[in-house]
Amino acid sequence: MRVIMASPRGFCAGVERAIAIVEQAIEAHDAPVYVRHEIVHNARVVKDLEAQGAIFVEELHQIPDGAVTIFSAHGVPASVEAEAERRALPVYDATCPLVSKVHNHGLRFAREGRNIVLIGHAGHAEVEGTLGQIPAPVHLVATPENVGALPLADDAPVAYLTQTTLSVDETRAVIAALHARFADCVGPDVADICYATQNRQTAVRALAERVDAIIVVGAANSSNSTRLAEIARSCGVPAWLVSDAEAFDPAWLNGIMRLGITAGASAPDVLVQELIARLGQSRDLSVSELDGIRENVSFSLPPALRRPSQRFGPRTARAG
Ligand code: SF4
Repeated sequence: MRVIMASPRGFCAGVERAIAIVEQAIEAHDAPVYVRHEIVHNARVVKDLEAQGAIFVEELHQIPDGAVTIFSAHGVPASVEAEAERRALPVYDATCPLVSKVHNHGLRFAREGRNIVLIGHAGHAEVEGTLGQIPAPVHLVATPENVGALPLADDAPVAYLTQTTLSVDETRAVIAALHARFADCVGPDVADICYATQNRQTAVRALAERVDAIIVVGAANSSNSTRLAEIARSCGVPAWLVSDAEAFDPAWLNGIMRLGITAGASAPDVLVQELIARLGQSRDLSVSELDGIRENVSFSLPPALRRPSQRFGPRTARAG
């Protein structure tokens, strides 16, 4: 069987930075360090970091006083930042800089007095964070139909934001509905869908033209991984989202001659390698990789983790 891998796939710069922040914080302060929410949406990443001494919790009240605290790559509401500050928790913020950029756009639109619409998925950690960072009412929409139902006058000044991990095409349809309804409507088009999301979606489309089926390695609660599987299916090929090699059923591949593999931005490469190893147990494989956009994005760590001499002590509030 031919196996063709998408490029780029897997880890993005924001995920690499977030994982490095946890690892460096453990090195700087010793275990345990506490991480609010899965640092990135991937069980293997979480398990590996737990083995190093990270403790994952959902809420700040689960973190003991004085314990080193890390906010996940998805970002947090301002109320969580305020509570951490009130308790003088030493915080490292692993919010992806591209998510912070969306927060900043939202703050600007709020200052301008516009009615803010966030295009995103209810309940996702990034959306919860963005909603909680903007000091004004925010309308959450996911579809063009939602836009039609917004309780706003058609001549109201509107500004929209997007979650960073959406489908580019679906988001364009929602943006078109916003512009069709509101004459005074501003926003970033799809520019706030992050480079990694856009590049992986472009790569999976190119892959879909060359294969009979696609496996996406990634977690079910990973937004960008879920979108990759949806996009593959929308291109007309069967696609499965699998968390790891064990979650894959060899029976899916009956009659498949060319299999495509990609991975979401929070899925470590070891999971792809384990999947290929499992495929290779039952058949001969020829493995190749498509050419794709080369990524050279990287984000720096918080200063306190970059320069050991300036690391803070256990009672110092906030680094970043
Ligand atoms: S998927 Fe995009 S926004 Fe999310 S962590 Fe990666 S680079 Fe940042």
